[in-house]
Amino acid sequence: MSLFDLKGKTALVTGGNGGIGLGMAKGLAQAGATIAIAGRDQAKNAAALKELGGKSIALEADLADEKSCRAMVDEAAKRLGRLDILVNNAGINVRKQPQDYKIEEWKLVLDTNLTSAFVASQTAYAHMLRAGGGKIVNIGSMMSIFGASFTTPYAASKGGIVQMTRALATAWARDNIQVNAVLPGWIDTALTRGARKEVQGLHERVLARTPAGRWGEPGDLSGIAVFLCSRASDFVTGTAIPVDGGYSSQG
Ligand code: NDP
Repeated sequence: MSLFDLKGKTALVTGGNGGIGLGMAKGLAQAGATIAIAGRDQAKNAAALKELGGKSIALEADLADEKSCRAMVDEAAKRLGRLDILVNNAGINVRKQPQDYKIEEWKLVLDTNLTSAFVASQTAYAHMLRAGGGKIVNIGSMMSIFGASFTTPYAASKGGIVQMTRALATAWARDNIQVNAVLPGWIDTALTRGARKEVQGLHERVLARTPAGRWGEPGDLSGIAVFLCSRASDFVTGTAIPVDGGYSSQG
């Protein structure tokens, strides 16, 4: 088990106050890490802290804003004493046909899902160098691989996440910083409850296409988070790992 032991490590999980982020934060906490979660909603932050327990802290931040994003990383490192792990998980979607997007909507999705992950990683770099290395996990999507008519900026942001992951991984491998992406399948969260309301037949289509025969739960992401943030994955970098019940393997 020591391969997966995170005692003494600190982790910042963006969007860690619910859904997939909280699922990952719980896994990291169970493995021994001290956690900082970040989100805009203070009530959600407080509720998640109760679930996480321990010495976890919550930071209020708007990741679509560069200054707020950089301040969040620096504050996490300061309050936790060091920064070993960054999980770039915060994300949103605006669902429309491509011809109907306003440019502000495109920018908001790209800023929140992709630019924030770059800015947070860039800011975390100096802290990780000081800690002797680090682990960055970026959250992609099935939309990193596939397209869908109602999700153009989201798909662009999630495709970008995979290529950014590869670029950062190659740049920082010699600094002992591993950078990987996780591509969740369809997971039951606030985000996809919204999608199921807006996109008719989505629930059934996902069930029919997923070989595991079910939607994922946030807890299904706990294990991959521990693996990619622990010593067990020290020679794993630049990958994009689906956690999808077989969705992306189904022809
Ligand atoms: P949720 O809506 O449950 O969680 C999104 C999180 O992001 C919340 O914690 C939210 O916190 C935070 N967030 C959103 N915008 C901002 C912002 N501007 N600043 C700070 N925090 C922000 O969705 P999921 O858990 O489903 O999604 C998490 C990630 O997983 C996203 O990147 C999503 O694209 C990805 N994903 C989800 C899939 C799914 O099936 N659910 C599938 C594939 C990928 P707050 O509201 O407090 O700001």
